[in-house]
Amino acid sequence: MPYFEMSFLALKWALRKPPTTQYPFEARKAIAGSRGQLIFTQDNCVYCTVCAKKCPTAALKVDRAQKKFVLDRLRCISCGCCVEICPKNSLALSTDHGSPTTSRDSEIYRGS
Ligand code: SF4
Ligand code: SF4
Repeated sequence: MPYFEMSFLALKWALRKPPTTQYPFEARKAIAGSRGQLIFTQDNCVYCTVCAKKCPTAALKVDRAQKKFVLDRLRCISCGCCVEICPKNSLALSTDHGSPTTSRDSEIYRGS
């Protein structure tokens, strides 16, 4: 390949916008119908534990006596099983993905 043509191509690709998303600096575009992160609405929850029993990855832990709901996001695979079975519509899947994290801490919600 002639030197001029090669230089032109190198410059063209160097100045071109990358075709990939610059994650995590650039937010991923939500695609309609995709399964993103689990959304928990605590107000409706009756701590029945059905969602935790159905979860295939043990991402949920519910304590009925203590009115405690624990979600381990790093275990959740967004399968939607808990969303389908919740009798109070306390759970939903958004199309957005959560922010990247280095923490392994679970989210803990306590009822009153
Ligand atoms: S199934 Fe619904 S109401 Fe029952 S504990 Fe889970 S989120 Fe709460
Ligand atoms: S979406 Fe699936 S993996 Fe995530 S908490 Fe619900 S049942 Fe568990």
